[in-house]
Amino acid sequence: MSGISDPTRTSFEPGALVEGLLPLCVPQLGGREWDYLKECLDSTFVSSVGPFVDRFEHEVAATVGSKFAVATASGTAALHIALLVSGVEPNDEVLMPAITFVAPANAIRYAGAWPVFIDVEPAYWQLDATKVAAFLETECVRRNGRLENKTTGRRVRALLPVHVLGHPCDIDPLMELAARYDLVVVEDATESLGARYRGRSPGSFGLTGCFSFNGNKIITSGGGGMLVTDDPAVARRAKYLTTQAKDDPVEYIHEEIGFNYRLTNVQAALGCAQLELLPGFVAAKRRIAAIYRDGLAGLPGVAFMREAPWAESSFWLSTITVDEARFGMDSRALMRRLQREGIQTRPLWHPLHRLRPFKSAQAFQIEHADQLCRDCLSLPSSTGLSAADAQRVASVIVNAGRGAL
Ligand SMILES: *Cc1c(COP(=O)(O)O)cnc(C)c1O
Repeated sequence: MSGISDPTRTSFEPGALVEGLLPLCVPQLGGREWDYLKECLDSTFVSSVGPFVDRFEHEVAATVGSKFAVATASGTAALHIALLVSGVEPNDEVLMPAITFVAPANAIRYAGAWPVFIDVEPAYWQLDATKVAAFLETECVRRNGRLENKTTGRRVRALLPVHVLGHPCDIDPLMELAARYDLVVVEDATESLGARYRGRSPGSFGLTGCFSFNGNKIITSGGGGMLVTDDPAVARRAKYLTTQAKDDPVEYIHEEIGFNYRLTNVQAALGCAQLELLPGFVAAKRRIAAIYRDGLAGLPGVAFMREAPWAESSFWLSTITVDEARFGMDSRALMRRLQREGIQTRPLWHPLHRLRPFKSAQAFQIEHADQLCRDCLSLPSSTGLSAADAQRVASVIVNAGRGAL
């Protein structure tokens, strides 16, 4: 199926390459993937036990700078388990940004808790710490030793910042707020492996950090995720819950409801090979971002995503904003124009409180989320994208702007 014949289809299935189409983001498998997969098959360790699972856990922990890592079947599973090990209980509330992929909001619901959506700031499109502070200050009250949302009467238990599009959010003020209000921090770092916040890896600040190795992420294991933590008890409990909460491996005694959330050795083999390529992938993404930034500089109505002074972004998806009044067409018209040229792009996610499953959830001081959803467009960002192709994308955008005037 062609992604360009259907103008409503904006998502991209990794691997479903269409001849002549420049895809949004596809994996690059140029390392030792075949060797490691062959090792897996030759050893018959293909399932959820095997040396590559342990190795992938150790190597991701080392890359992130965390003491422990627990592999999971997906990034969403890692988030679900992270919330459970953080003590998030049914009917609790978890604060998170209004603009991100839906997975963390779903994970909060899996835990029986409710998201509260806080606006993102306009400069870097990340969770706005000032608004989190305002919410905690004005909307919450300490009652019976717990922090309660005055509107809903629910306990506010955790903070779930997301490092959106590979750009680290400003985590220091969020950590300070969490300490002041006794909130547990679960970092969604699924899009930001390889990025840096003041020299440190996203995912290493909270009690737990979560990563994804889905096909369109910076490295892939086919599918998979990882929970990292410095706390040995949290790591032990995460491993226990992801492996069906087995208390006696001989008699199969289970004291709790567990989950089958383990990564397989085959997936971990792929992940290990990909992780060796991470530094090159980050460099490639940053090169692509620089080409777009230079190629679009000075173009009226188009702005390339910025990088904060605290941040070294992985530029997971290079993204622009399109101001219809100044550019002459809106982001969706530009998307269709690029599609006709065989270039796949994608708008940003819809603000989560606008989605049906989350309409009853609280949304706080939303001022920028809707505009970002309207104006943002993510450009082809595969690590294998050539400089010439990136330049072509930029010049199609420049010409689209000229043509529209
Ligand atoms: C991809 C992603 C996830 C989920 O990862 P899966 O491995 O696809 O389950 C979670 N949060 C964000 C922000 C993501 O982009």
